[in-house]
Amino acid sequence: MTKPVIQYAIGRYECVQCGEAVFVTELTDELPVCPRCGGQSYEGPPP
Ligand SMILES: [Zn+2]
Repeated sequence: MTKPVIQYAIGRYECVQCGEAVFVTELTDELPVCPRCGGQSYEGPPP
């Protein structure tokens, strides 16, 4: 059994805490930590 891998699409994500824009340039299963506030919650295209 392999668990499904959720990947985030390439695009622009906005930190829900401070509004910092983070750009994802390649498929990833983990969004980067916000450079401004250290948060890891973003609004953007769904995985
Ligand atoms: Zn932030």
